[in-house]
Amino acid sequence: VTEKQWLRSRDPGAMIDHLGDVASERKLRLFAVACCERVADLLLDPRSLGALRAAERLTEGKVKGGVWRERKAAADAWYDDAGGQGSKDARWMAVQVIVESARGSARTLPVCALAAIEAQERLGGQWYDVRSRRGKAERAVHPQLFRDIFGNPFSPVALDPAWVTTDVRALARGIYDDRAFDRMPILADALQDAGCASEGVLSHCRDATATHARGCWVVDLLLGKE
Ligand SMILES: [Zn+2]
Repeated sequence: VTEKQWLRSRDPGAMIDHLGDVASERKLRLFAVACCERVADLLLDPRSLGALRAAERLTEGKVKGGVWRERKAAADAWYDDAGGQGSKDARWMAVQVIVESARGSARTLPVCALAAIEAQERLGGQWYDVRSRRGKAERAVHPQLFRDIFGNPFSPVALDPAWVTTDVRALARGIYDDRAFDRMPILADALQDAGCASEGVLSHCRDATATHARGCWVVDLLLGKE
């Protein structure tokens, strides 16, 4: 993979392969959760949504072992309920999303998010169609989310501790906690006030067309998260 290919890639799978062990499990999981979050309306059973929320909190280490086992057991139970109807059943496909997140294979989650879209279409009376409008739209967003979370491995940005003023830290923390990515341009202003001249960082914050997610490489960089 060259830099040009990376920036244009539409295949998160190839990008994951390129990163190899450099991709932290936390970021992989955040990517997977971001993909699933976009199709949360397709998670038809409250147990699945509960497991998705737990999968997300797991990335921050905020889920107690007992709660996690309970969520996972609920998702597994639903999987068993639905699985009896065979692998072509829509509900069975949708539940894979959450079971995968509960089992922890972050790398396969985006595939499952697509399965949920397809499942929903079946439930709506339409037959499986990978070329569906929503499926296509989601597939187009996945590589954008991936690049947002992992940044550009061909031109990594080193953090200058001087950038992380009280203002910058508070803004980054707020954006992260609230997923308030509309504040990214304000963050860029605060970074410039702190002496940051990194074109990569500033333009990422100011790009009105950028897709951001929790795990965004700039916010993570400022918060010291990997
Ligand atoms: Zn971002």
